[in-house]
This record gives sequence, structure tokens and C-alpha cells, in this order.
Amino acid sequence: MKILIAASEAAPFIKTGGLADVAGALAKALFRLGHDVRLVIPRYQDLDTRKHRLFPLMPEIKVNYGSQTIHGSVLRTTFPKTEIPVYFIEEPMFSLRRGIYGNQQGDFRDNDVRFAFFNQAILWLLKGLDWRPDVIHANDWQTGLLPALLKHNPEVCHDEFFQSIRSLFSVHNLAFQGNFPKWVIPNIGLPWELFRPELMEFYNQASFLKAGITCADHVTTVSPTYVKEIQTEENGAGMHGVLKERTGSLTGILNGIDTEEWDPAADEHLPAHFSAEDLTGKAACKRKLQEETGLRPDPEIPLLGMTTRLSEQKGLGLIVEALDDLAALDAQFLFLGSGEKKYEDVLSKASEDYANIAAVIGYDVPLSHRIVAGSDFFLVPSRFEPCGLTQMYAMRYGSVPIVRAVGGLRDTVAPPTAKTLADGTATGFTFEDFTTDSFLACLKEALDARKNGAEWQAIMSNGMRKDWGWNKAASQYVSLYESLAAASE
Ligand code: ADP
Repeated sequence: MKILIAASEAAPFIKTGGLADVAGALAKALFRLGHDVRLVIPRYQDLDTRKHRLFPLMPEIKVNYGSQTIHGSVLRTTFPKTEIPVYFIEEPMFSLRRGIYGNQQGDFRDNDVRFAFFNQAILWLLKGLDWRPDVIHANDWQTGLLPALLKHNPEVCHDEFFQSIRSLFSVHNLAFQGNFPKWVIPNIGLPWELFRPELMEFYNQASFLKAGITCADHVTTVSPTYVKEIQTEENGAGMHGVLKERTGSLTGILNGIDTEEWDPAADEHLPAHFSAEDLTGKAACKRKLQEETGLRPDPEIPLLGMTTRLSEQKGLGLIVEALDDLAALDAQFLFLGSGEKKYEDVLSKASEDYANIAAVIGYDVPLSHRIVAGSDFFLVPSRFEPCGLTQMYAMRYGSVPIVRAVGGLRDTVAPPTAKTLADGTATGFTFEDFTTDSFLACLKEALDARKNGAEWQAIMSNGMRKDWGWNKAASQYVSLYESLAAASE
């Protein structure tokens, strides 16, 4: 199959969250399955060009936006350790400013123009390359216009080159919708008929996410539980109606993790290595982590880690409310995160006030690896969670997750019961209600279980041994691509 993955971020090039991990790891998995997969992302200034050498591919591309013409170019590189071509769409709106979607002042005000240009430029690129994918796999609102352009822009949908290309749209987080003033619709050559609530309109704005959901040939989201949740009014973020409409072409495919990037036996960021068979290196990882973050080096005290965007979604409200209770426990807590200032401030203060709480405010990928390696438990108390990757990284590194049972967290973490302990599937601790009481009760249950050595070892070992890789998900995507391509013949 020929597949183009279009995304606004992809590891290892540029990453702010799980979308980047997924785009990079899925591309790699598809390549290993023998497909002609290619990746396209914007060329941001923040890209580390010492690490990733880019080569000019197309010196000039031109895209119409209303009465203006936007000029850009395309660069190219190859995905590390593969032969996957990676294309970078360049334009000063991306390459001449710091930040991906925004900066300290908030989201960039021209994100509609930036990403409308990006989507149009992708189609220009394909034609320029004369490479026609069977499927364009678009991801999240930043590439939500691609399915709309393929289906409704007259210059695209009447062009034979594009007619057989099918589109798959993946929703990684329904909370990010890309809602903008409606003028973007005519500006990119889409008809006003799309400005209806069943298509692109969202409360008198044009929603890029809704465009993807309603115009793609098929829609996926990142876990079987989330796919059900988002079709309900409570969790549908205003999009449950259009999602329900698409229920026959809506699939939940659970993300995997990149087991090469995240391998405790070979991770370049760790001071020592370990595996389910030989855990000795984990103690050294814990000691070093305690030392580097100012926690008391103590091999016995349970160390609970958390790496996250600091936002309400991730349960920071619960954490903040519970801080005094956490400080009173015979346990250590380590937070790594960046995001909303109020949470950054509270965590920084807690780390000054309490000896058993440490907080590192910032975005630090190597430290995020050392946290899963050095911690005994990992916290993911999300309000909602489409899939969540950090709990899977944690399990692979023997850090037992304590999670709220929502979305992909419910699909990946199995609490200990007589059955799950007997059949070796128990992997962590879960709580249902989004309240500090439930959260704290679950924490205590987990800390007590650690005192019961045998049960604890079993839970940890089950998580470490489970196959979290991409093979299963990649095969599910391939089946979908194949059925879409077959339908277009
Ligand atoms: P989301 O995409 O909603 O933020 P995911 O769990 O799907 O959540 O993915 C988050 C990714 O971003 C993980 O790879 C996680 O390790 C990483 N991450 C989040 N915050 C930080 C941080 N402050 N420093 C380093 N990595 C981080």
C-alpha cells in the first residue's frame, strides 16, 4: 500500500504530545510491514537541524488563500533507521518563529492560515512528486481540512490525480478542535455548503476537526473505550452528534508504543539498564533519579512519578487538591510537566514546601525516560484520556500505573482481581470517580499492595512482559487502508 501520514508533529523530529509519538511509530511500523509509507509535517523553527539534516526538494510551492498567494517550499529527509521519506512544508509562518501551536501569550492567531496552507501544500506536494498514495491518513484538526479538500474543493475533486485517493482521519483528542472564523472556507476554495452543523460549522465557526470527521472516508480514534465515550453528549465535546452519524465508519484502534525508543534494556537516557528477567539496574535508576531531583535517596520508600502536560484534562485539579495528603504519605512524588501556569506554580511551591515532593517544570524527554525507569508507580489520574501513552511506557519500565479508568487507560490497565491475578493480566491500579477521595483510596490500595511482595512483583512483571508494540495496531490500520482502497476501485 502507498500511505501518506500527514500530521502537525512527529517524533523524533518535533513533539509536544502523544500525536507525535503515534505518527512516528506508526510510520515505522508500516514501513517494517513492507508498505510505501511517507510522512509530511511542517518545518518549524524548533526542529533541531543539527540532528535532522534537511535537503531541498521543491524550491517553490504556491497556494491560493482568498485573494493572496502563499509561497512555500518543501524539504526532505529520511526517517532515522528506515527509508521512509519525510517531507517538511516550509513557510515563514512555521519556520520563522519559535513555538509549534503558540507561545507564552497563547495560541498563534494565524493558526487557521498556517494549517490551511499546510493542508493545501500537501496536495501540491503529492502532485509535484507525482506520487499518488492509496490513502492519506490525516491526524487531528491540523490536518482535518485534507479530507474536505479531497472531497469538496473543485480543483482537487475534479482532478483525476486525486480521485482515487481515500482519506482516513484519526482523532487523537476531541478537545482540540481547530475552530476558526468561517472565512477560511471560501479562502481555500471550499463551498459554503460545508458551513452547516452536520459538516464543518461549529457554533458559527469553521471547525477543522469537524471537517475531518465529516468528510473523511473513515474515521478512527485511539482506543476502543474512547470511541464509545465520544459518541455521548457527556464526553463528545459538542461533536457527539456528527460522531454518532459516522458510527458505521468509526473505529477505535488502541495505540501502541515505540518499543525501540522505550526499551529499559537499551535506553540511552538511563544510567543503568534492566528487563523483566533482570531488574537489578532499576534500583540504580531509582537512586540516580532521587539524587538528580533532590529527593532523599532511599531504595525502600515508594517513588511515584508523573510526566504530563499540566492541564485540567490530566487530572491536575485532583493532584493539587490532594497535595497535602500526598505530602503526609510515606512515599515520594516526582512531577515533570509544563503547561498551565497555575499548575506550574502550585507544583513548584509544593516541591519547596515538602521534602517528599519534587517538581521539574519544563519539557524534558530524557528525564521522562528516567522517571518511568526510576519510579515504582506512575500516576495518570486523567479526567478524560483518548488513549494515553505514558502508562504504557511506565508498565514497560516496571513502574506500576495508578490511573483513572477512562478512555485508553481503561483499555490498557487491568486492576488486580482474583481473575487477573490468576491469569497474569493484572497490570496496575484504577479508580472510577474523578474525586480526590477515590484517587487517594486507590493510591493507598497500591501502596499497601507493594507491601505484599509476591502480588506486587506479579503485577509489575505482567506489565513489563506484555507486548505494547505497534504490530497489532499497524495491522488494524492496514486492514482499514486496504478496505478503503478496495472501495475506491
Ligand atoms: P497527550 O498527547 O494528551 O499529552 P499522551 O500520554 O498521549 O498525552 O502523550 C504524551 C507524550 O508527551 C508522552 O510521550 C509523554 O512522555 C510526553 N510528555 C508530556 N509532558 C512531557 C514533559 N514535560 N517532558 C517530556 N515529555 C513529556
